[in-house]
Order: sequence, then structure tokens, then C-alpha cells
Amino acid sequence: MRKLVAPLAAAALSLTLAACGQGANGVGGDAPKADTKGGLVGISMPTKSSERWINDGDNMVKQFQAKGYKTDLQYGDNVVENQVSQLENMITKGARLLVVAAIDGSSLTDVLQKAADAHIPVISYDRLIRGTKNVDYYATFDNFKVGVLQGDYIAQKLDLKDGKGPFNVELFAGSPDDNNATFFFNGAMSVLKPYLDSKKLVVQSGQTGFNQVATLRWDGGLAQSRMDNLLSKSYTSARVDAVLSPYDGISIGILSSLKSVGYGGSGKPLPIVTGQDGELASVKSIIAGEQTQTVYKDTRELAKVAVQMGDALLTGGKPETNDTTQYNNGAKTVPAYLLQPVSVDKDNYQKVLVDGGQYTADQLK
Ligand code: BGC
Repeated sequence: MRKLVAPLAAAALSLTLAACGQGANGVGGDAPKADTKGGLVGISMPTKSSERWINDGDNMVKQFQAKGYKTDLQYGDNVVENQVSQLENMITKGARLLVVAAIDGSSLTDVLQKAADAHIPVISYDRLIRGTKNVDYYATFDNFKVGVLQGDYIAQKLDLKDGKGPFNVELFAGSPDDNNATFFFNGAMSVLKPYLDSKKLVVQSGQTGFNQVATLRWDGGLAQSRMDNLLSKSYTSARVDAVLSPYDGISIGILSSLKSVGYGGSGKPLPIVTGQDGELASVKSIIAGEQTQTVYKDTRELAKVAVQMGDALLTGGKPETNDTTQYNNGAKTVPAYLLQPVSVDKDNYQKVLVDGGQYTADQLK
């Protein structure tokens, strides 16, 4: 039965695609060539400076190879031009599929036109590629929810629902060229804004707009200097009670800044500091009572989604999606599959991260 259904589904899909005048890459032209199964998959990741992307890359290589594909995994070192030339190389080498986590979401239009001209489908990985119709599918997490989990954590720990306050909070956001950064920030603000409006939360620096609080390329060092400035300008007498941080690398920078002026010492407890990714250094920091929370996103699962999408595209199938409305990239709405992020703190890290197989207990010592 399965044997019969698959070719029928494939035939139906190619009929539909033919009727729309579209190839599997959704950009016009032929359906993928018959030799795409087992072909070369180009995997383009932004940087090795954060563990998560190393895990993402390794997980995808493992999973694509297990399905018989060859892989070319490249890291752009957070330099847009590197990523563009790495993608060009992949196209020249005859890649059948590109999986891309963009450094700058809006800088890939030209190179992805070349991919489309060569009938190579493109999966946007974790970060939405913007401004081009030459992106076929999007594998990611519920990015708005990530921010909601961070905002909720602050609200809960400060008992804001019970009317406690006022408390001082400072806000940080991610890189302005990463579509995710606004989703995280808007998600967090959807929780925090009512408390800012009612003055139960106060931003002493007055910096509340995304552009004022964004951190180019998610750079922890930049965040640290910004926190140094905030502390010296707005907190000579006031005390920070919470810091919204969108990413573990930024949280580590913020914590260094706080500790340098005595937070974490006697009589001056560290504020609540959120984070994202469940990176090893941050989980250790959580266990040590410094960073308070992180939002864990299981990159093994994200790799699985991307590999399933890619395999479907290369074998005439249709990738599974569960969101076809949220992610408009300015040129089209990209069909997406969203995974669920999980809030982690010292109470549940053992269950989520150790029992879940992300880290061994030894790694966290
Ligand atoms: C990812 C986050 C990550 C951040 C910095 C975002 O696009 O979704 O998981 O923390 O980039 O690397």
C-alpha cells in the first residue's frame, strides 16, 4: 500500500507543480532531477562562536548522511561576504539543496537567485531569510513564544501578577539583521509592556525601543559594554532587579558587567537574568546561581525537521508544515514548521537537559 501511495502522491505533487508552472523550489522551472536523492546538501551556518550552531551543523550532517546524502557544512564566521561566497561554492559544486541559517537575513537575494536558476531548493534554517521569493520552506522554533517564556519568567519571579513592584528592569534584544530578534523582543514585550505601562516595571535608562536595545550580531562583548554604561548612568543609587536578555552569550556579558560593580556580592543580589539556547556555560551559571533562566531549543529536533523537509523536497514529496501564516519575508509567506521552546532554570535543568540527553551530569560539573 505504502509503495503505491508514495508514487501517487509524487505524481499528484508534480501535476500540481506543473499546473502552477513551478518546480519543487517554488520558483519556476523543472521538478528536481531524478538524481537528487543521495546528492550533495550544502549546509550554511552563521558562526562557530556559539555552541548551538556547531550542534545544529553536526546534527544535520549526521542525519543527512544517515539518509544517504553527501554534505558540505560551512560556517561564515559572522561575516556576510563569507556566507555568500560559501553558498556560491556550494552551487558551483552541484549542491541539490541548500539549508541556510543567515548571518544577515536580507543579504542573500543575489546568491539565492543563482540557486533558483540552478533549480536548487532552499530551506531557511532557524532564521528567516528575507526579501526573496527563492526560499521554499522554513524550519524553526516558535520564536514569539521564546520571548513570551523570557517575559513570563521575569513576571513570575517578581510576582508582578500579584501586584508587587515597582521593580527596575533593563531590556536587551538580539541582532537587528536577524528576523528572530524582533519576534523574541515582541514576545517578551507582550508580557512586560502592561507592567511598564502600570509602572510596576521601570526602565531607569529609558531605553525601551527595539533599536535602542538591539545587539548587533548577538555580540556578548557589546552587551557587556552597554550594561556597563547603563549601570554607570542610571544605577548609581537605584538597583537592577531584572534584565531581559535574549541569548545566553549576551547574558554572560551582562552578568560580567553586573559582577564588576558588586552584584552577586553581599547585600547586592544579582538580578533575574534570562537567556536562550541552554549553552553549557549558561547552564553552569544557572546551577551556580548567577544566570537565572534560559530558553532551551533542542537542535537535534530542529535538524530532524530540516532533514525531513530536505529529503521530501529531493524525493518529490511535500514537507510537513504547521504554520503557513506567520512568516512573511517581504516577498512571500514561507511555509514553516515550528518546534516548541522550553523554559529552563535551576528547578528543571536536570529533567530537561540531563534526562533529555543534551548534557551528561559530568559536563555540568
Ligand atoms: C537564534 C537563537 C540564538 C541567536 C544567536 C537566533 O537567530 O534563534 O537561538 O540565540 O540567533 O545565535
